[in-house]
Amino acid sequence: MYLSLRPALAQRTQRRPVHSLGKVNIKRAEYKEDDGPMDSNCGCYACTRFSRAYLRHLYMVRELLAYRLNTIHNLHYFLALTHGAAQAILQGKFATFKTEVEAVHAHA
Ligand SMILES: [Zn+2]
Repeated sequence: MYLSLRPALAQRTQRRPVHSLGKVNIKRAEYKEDDGPMDSNCGCYACTRFSRAYLRHLYMVRELLAYRLNTIHNLHYFLALTHGAAQAILQGKFATFKTEVEAVHAHA
């Protein structure tokens, strides 16, 4: 249930991508000409094919593709996060993993 609901809730309530280095407000003017990926640590379809500038444009004009790409990214992010948690548990390092993830998202 967690895997199926959390990414969708993040999409619906925040309408923005969850970034591996914290949350990114893609609508900010600083991304208007940013050719970099939405999340440089992500290998999802959206991050490997579209720039921040293009995603920002899609958000600004309320193009539905923006929400679809955001959902693709968020699903990929949460799956990777869950995989990382599972690996940390197997290695007996979950407390460290949790602290690192919380630190990244503390200022979001
Ligand atoms: Zn991504």
